[in-house]
Amino acid sequence: MNSLRSEWHLIAATISDILRWSYGKVTTLEDLYDPRIFGPTTDLSCLCGSLRGEEAVGSVCDKCGVFVSGDSVSVRRLRVGHTELAVPIPSPFDDSVILDVFPVAPILYRRDDHGTVTPLGERYQTLVRVNRALLESMPEKWSAEYLVAARESGPGEVLEAINDIIGRATPGEPASHGDSLLALLARSLAVGDPDIAAITRSCGLAMKMRAIL
Ligand SMILES: [Zn+2]
Repeated sequence: MNSLRSEWHLIAATISDILRWSYGKVTTLEDLYDPRIFGPTTDLSCLCGSLRGEEAVGSVCDKCGVFVSGDSVSVRRLRVGHTELAVPIPSPFDDSVILDVFPVAPILYRRDDHGTVTPLGERYQTLVRVNRALLESMPEKWSAEYLVAARESGPGEVLEAINDIIGRATPGEPASHGDSLLALLARSLAVGDPDIAAITRSCGLAMKMRAIL
């Protein structure tokens, strides 16, 4: 008799997966580094300092909106945001999944300890810039004019920026550069990184349990 087992596998995330994971919407370049979305900059304090100390851990400051943690590095490594795309794109991992949002990786992978933006961080800046420019040139989202304009302009530079973040030029090809999300994911899988979920989510991939015989 066959025994039923289960295993984890990765599938393309849907819009509702991405929105469920997100700690906040990134619209501007400043939002990419917003501690209200991506976590506190220091341990045991909100940004403005109204909340301090062990007793404040787990609270969100009602003045600055920043969460207080005893381990802010872990929070900055886990929190994923999202950006609303100017035009819908097919998921880089499954053409049949259409996305009009895309995850933004935790800040820890985008800016180093000295505050320097990493190559991956620069690619997110490019995404926000080209997406914003396209959004501003488009009619109101989902209006009849929008649908015509979206079809005519296509995702163009937005899709290019996302492919550059993920690290492949076309689906099915291996990671094209070492500091891409797919390269990061491969390294994390190799070492059994406990933060693997944050990296898969950043790629737009969901971990699903599958029963196997
Ligand atoms: Zn505060």
